[in-house]
Amino acid sequence: ALIDTTEHDSLQTADAKHLLHPWADLSTLGDENALMIQHAKGVHVYDSKGKQYLDAIGGMWCVTLGYGHEELIEAMASQARKMAYYTPFGDVSSAPSAQLAEMLAVLTPGDLNRAHFTTCGSTAIDSAVRIAHYYYAAQGRDSKRHVLSRRNAYHGSTYLAASLSGKAADRTLFQYESEFVHHLSSPQYDPDIAKESAASRLQTLLDEMEAEIARLGADNIACFVAEPILASGGVLVPPQGYQAATREICRKHDILYISDEVVTGFGRLGHFFASEAHFDIVPDMIISAKGITSGYQPLGVVMISDRICDAISAGAPEEKPVFSNGYTYSGHPIVCATAIKNIEIMKRDGICQHVREVGPYFIEQLRTLIDSDIVYTVRGDHLMACVECWTGDEVGPTAKNMALAQRVDQYCEQDGLLVRPYENLCIMSPPLIVERSDIDRIIATLGSALTRAQ
Ligand code: PLP
Repeated sequence: ALIDTTEHDSLQTADAKHLLHPWADLSTLGDENALMIQHAKGVHVYDSKGKQYLDAIGGMWCVTLGYGHEELIEAMASQARKMAYYTPFGDVSSAPSAQLAEMLAVLTPGDLNRAHFTTCGSTAIDSAVRIAHYYYAAQGRDSKRHVLSRRNAYHGSTYLAASLSGKAADRTLFQYESEFVHHLSSPQYDPDIAKESAASRLQTLLDEMEAEIARLGADNIACFVAEPILASGGVLVPPQGYQAATREICRKHDILYISDEVVTGFGRLGHFFASEAHFDIVPDMIISAKGITSGYQPLGVVMISDRICDAISAGAPEEKPVFSNGYTYSGHPIVCATAIKNIEIMKRDGICQHVREVGPYFIEQLRTLIDSDIVYTVRGDHLMACVECWTGDEVGPTAKNMALAQRVDQYCEQDGLLVRPYENLCIMSPPLIVERSDIDRIIATLGSALTRAQ
């Protein structure tokens, strides 16, 4: 039977009966309590009863320019009127995809001059690992297939991207393990709670990486896949120098370095890409998604170095010189037109500069919450951050700590603030357009929620 979807209650019924949400809480499957977000403007979203929330999650780390941005909407509509879609396969192209590829080549560091478009972050990760395999296969080095990742990494939800992800929670009911994926330790270093110096933690991590490479044999390893700061794993910031040192290890052993900038790219750390500008490394490939379109359209991209691309084309078999990877919607014209407009607006409005100004203020203000008895630690960088809750006994995602974080989250929601509850963390990645006054409201609301949850 048809459901009248104009009514809040019937919307919730439709949702409860017929939707299986990504990352659904299976213990509440079928409950009619979904938060129905109906419209949005700027940094605010509104539910179907008209209640306003300040969205400190930025959708899902992705809504960077805020909601209802007329120029982005117009870019989508105008490209749709011109041509919504045509095949991107083989030697057929479209103006938006070619123009966006050129813009990205300018924004990325080093010789990362070639864009391979996909549909999201997960498919970009999949494609990057396949490209790493093609690269070595094209040189007759087929044994180089193994992939190094880290525990607590999150790289997405396709079978391969999920195999690369390292969090135990992401493996519920699944044995994702691929025989060629290996997880190194999570590289988190939090100076507030660490029992050792950053230098000593760094050395331990590097020794472990070298030992794993020696165990597997560098001749068997294709690539290392790494988020510069682990996002969904809990905003885990590695010790200073980790990115550059691991990059150097990869160079030494001829292992490709794939930087997953799905979250850290497009302004969240104050630069279009954080790899070089923030961490002083030039990777072999960079993955981007999410903020590349400000979340207005789904897009993923692998930026590939000329060196890799040249080697793949030089080593392709003469009888079938085909790059056998791609999607119906790779380089989709409306999607690419949105990304182009997003980049133009970001440049014109100085969004990266704005993040470099408000980002440190956000972290500084969040850190005042560390005085709360139920806050174990606060960590982050610019506009990605989290508050880790604890009841005062055991540290980490225990049942008690997770229940506590859930309470904090509920109080925030009651008071019109959306933070992302994950295990015993409240994660935040607000739109990049947040002003100091928005930040003050986030801190005040979260502070009051922490007091009430004690
Ligand atoms: N890589 C990172 C670092 C992510 O945070 C995510 C998603 O949260 C992905 C990859 C996967 O991206 P998507 O959900 O667009 O497939």
